[in-house]
Parts: sequence; C-alpha cells; structure tokens
Amino acid sequence: MSQVPSLTLNNGVDMPQLGFGVWQVPDSDAEKAVATAIESGYRSIDTAAIYGNEAGTGKAVAASGVPRDELFITTKLWNSEQGYDKTLRAFDESLDKLGLDHVDLYLIHWPLPAKDTYVDTYKALEKIYADGRARAIGVSNFLPAHLERLIAETSVVPAVNQIELHPQLQQAELRALHAQHGIVTEAWSPLGQGKGLLEIPTVVAIARKHDRTPAQVVLRWHIQTGNVAIPKSVTPSRIVENLDVFGFELDPDDLAALGVLDEGKRLGADPAEFHYGA
Ligand code: NAD
Repeated sequence: MSQVPSLTLNNGVDMPQLGFGVWQVPDSDAEKAVATAIESGYRSIDTAAIYGNEAGTGKAVAASGVPRDELFITTKLWNSEQGYDKTLRAFDESLDKLGLDHVDLYLIHWPLPAKDTYVDTYKALEKIYADGRARAIGVSNFLPAHLERLIAETSVVPAVNQIELHPQLQQAELRALHAQHGIVTEAWSPLGQGKGLLEIPTVVAIARKHDRTPAQVVLRWHIQTGNVAIPKSVTPSRIVENLDVFGFELDPDDLAALGVLDEGKRLGADPAEFHYGA
C-alpha cells in the first residue's frame, strides 16, 4: 500500500503526488531503476519518447507484479512528431515500446511556438483520450499564452502542465493560471537537478532542524505547495530517501524561508525558444 497521497485531476483521475522520473537513464539501466522505484513504493513513473527508455520502463512495469491499475505511467510526445497524424503514430509506438494498452497520462513535451502545431497535436491527444488509450492528457513546458490558446481552441482542458519548478524557480504566474483552470502543476527537475539548490544554507539549515536531508526538504516543499514532483535518481538509497517525505512537516517559518529563494533561475531551456528536434 503506497503512502503517497494523490491529487485528483480535472477529469476525476487520481495521480500520485510523488513519482519517479527517468530522464537520462539509459534504456539498459531503466529496467533496474524503475524496478527499484516500484519495489520502494513509487507508483508513478515519468518517461518520454525522447528519453529512449520506454522499453526498459515497460519491462520493469510488467515484471513488478503490481496490478496495472495501481500504477500511473506518463509518457510524452517528442517534438519531431508534432502534427495530428504523426502524433497518433508516435503514440502507437510509445505504447508498443512500453508494452501497454494505455497510459495514464500523455503529454506534449514542448510547445514549439514557432512551429505552430501544438493545437493540431493536442487534437490528436483528444482523440487518444476519447478512445480510452490515455486516462488523462496534458502538456509540458507550456507558457501562459500557449495554455490560453489551447483552452480557447480545443475541448479538453489539459489535466497537467509539467514545468521546470523548484525553490529557485517557483513559477507563481503559471501556478495561478493552472489553479484558475483546474490544471495540476507537475514539477520537473524538482531537486534543481541536485546541483546548487541542495547546498543553499537555508535548505541545509531546515534539513538539520527536521533531521532530514536537503532533498527531502525540497520534496516536502513541493508536496506542501500542492505540486506533483518527479525526482530522478539511479542510486537505490536516494530512490528510497526521496519517497520518505511524508513523516514530517515544514512549518510556516520554513515555508517563508524557502519562498524567498525564488530567483526565476531556469536550469533547462526557455519554452519560448526551445525547438530542438522539431
Ligand atoms: P531532479 O531535480 O530530479 O534531480 C536529479 C538529480 O539530483 C540526480 O541525477 C542526482 O544527481 C540528484 N539527486 C537525486 N536524489 C538526490 C538526493 N536524495 N540527494 C542528493 N542528490 C540527489 O532533476 P531531473 O532528472 O532533471 O528531473 C526529474 C524528472 O523530471 C526527469 O527524470 C524527467 O522525468 C522529468 N523532466 C521533464 C522535463 C520536461 O521537459 N518535461 C525536463 C527535465 C526533466
């Protein structure tokens, strides 16, 4: 029985608030890492076609012995495949690699505004959703203007926008827009990629105070902020550590101290500019 709470998406589907991300995990290692995650209690896995590890992820899911309806599997459409027909084909390929007959969440990976195909692409996601092959659909890296256009020109409000989000990039504007439309905010690079964020004295001090690690403090911040978080690790002890964030609580002083770390600092690409692979 998983200890991880769920958030209810705008179509009534429940999504675990903490999941396991597999970006930069080679396919040959993904099976082991995902197996460790599922054994440790994770029930949500975040992959993408471009990560090249849908097959390894699918193998671990199949071997896990956990009933399919207790798992929440997300994958994403890569940039080169945007457009209505290409999206439908790419989705078939992803399902094939995963060895599944449906995913729980299918996302458009990047908006590619200069290409201007995300509305048609999303219409293909609506077809996939209507056919019951994705229990929920959404987007990733969408800026406010992209979300607003999508909502105006299509029928299904995205269930999720997966965006870069951590204490140094708190994304207040997008989070407010999501709340207004009932879109769940999912944080990628929730640990700031394990770099400077976890060494900031404020974070280290709060960790000491609660007898926890800096990573646990940051993940707890995501949980209390209402985000879905999908930390990545291939180290078994960290995989376990990152899930163990439900036995303590940050107090208002901690939250205030973490709140002021926001400096709008992106580690990844700016979605307005990023057209890699398109
Ligand atoms: P992350 O913030 O999860 O950081 C991962 C890194 O932090 C690890 O490689 C490791 O070096 C370190 N780390 C992990 N656990 C730790 C711990 N307990 N203590 C100390 N260090 C620790 O960064 P990420 O992998 O970039 O993001 C997580 C997931 O988000 C990805 O795997 C992927 O699924 C998703 N993602 C999506 C997009 C997108 O465009 N939609 C982009 C990037 C990542």
